[in-house]
Amino acid sequence: MKIIKSIKELKKELLEYKKANLSIGFVPTMGYLHEGHLSLMRAAKKENERLIVSIFVNPMQFGANEDLDKYPRDLERDSKLCEDEGVDILFCPSVEELYPKGFSSYVDMNSLTNTLCGASRAGHFRGVCTVLMKLFNITGANRAYFGQKDAQQCAVVKQMVRDLNLDIEIKICPIVREADNLAKSSRNVYLNEDERKSALCLSRALALAKKMLDEGEKEAFKIKEAMQKEIEKENLARIDYISLVNPKTMQELEQIKDEVLVALAVFVGKTRLIDNYLRGEI
Ligand code: AMP
Repeated sequence: MKIIKSIKELKKELLEYKKANLSIGFVPTMGYLHEGHLSLMRAAKKENERLIVSIFVNPMQFGANEDLDKYPRDLERDSKLCEDEGVDILFCPSVEELYPKGFSSYVDMNSLTNTLCGASRAGHFRGVCTVLMKLFNITGANRAYFGQKDAQQCAVVKQMVRDLNLDIEIKICPIVREADNLAKSSRNVYLNEDERKSALCLSRALALAKKMLDEGEKEAFKIKEAMQKEIEKENLARIDYISLVNPKTMQELEQIKDEVLVALAVFVGKTRLIDNYLRGEI
């Protein structure tokens, strides 16, 4: 595995891939890798001749009061995990190279971003779209792999690819969970012992939503109310949002017909966690 830190060096390597006409799978991450990330790498490895993983904690997608400075990092551990997964190139660009002085072009999105995380994290998806556009261009990947854990991000990236005629296929992989159902996340490391227990209220609330949907409940507000009660049982938990949306448009549903994304964001202590249950396709 090659660990590459500069765009110039990466381009040199990619030239060889191009000459040999090799297909490239790409997994963009912010590092502090866990089984969720590794599942994306395994999917990419199966479907492509070469695998590029990026680690870049993208300042542009963090709000002013968010956790950019304390976001967990461990390149040594991450590179070992990537090596074990058969990654060909681990690309770790610097902030200075991706956003040089005078940087002023952005990719933004009007639809899909006025709900869920887009509503509670102003500017977040502008940061996500801008960095992904750059990384897609730099790597020239044929396919990019994303986790359903960030469901709105999946929808946004698919829309960007359609809108801007990008020549890349977007693949969405299932949510990987801990044994007790907490969705894996780099941010789980922030949780102390009590918070870790409280954090199970997210998956419990989603299980409740699934049960109500299975039993034929069509009123979104009833499902939201039940989920809210479940979360409010935990003293350490504070709801950011609970939403039932159309999984393609990310717009709020009042009545459930067939497809629905049940998504929630909850602060457990100071840590903001997200999770979702999807019926249908993004
Ligand atoms: P991050 O490093 O948090 O930006 O995540 C990088 C990619 O890994 C994104 O596409 C995430 O959706 C995906 N991912 C994060 N957590 C999980 C998980 N628990 N299961 C599946 N994919 C995940």
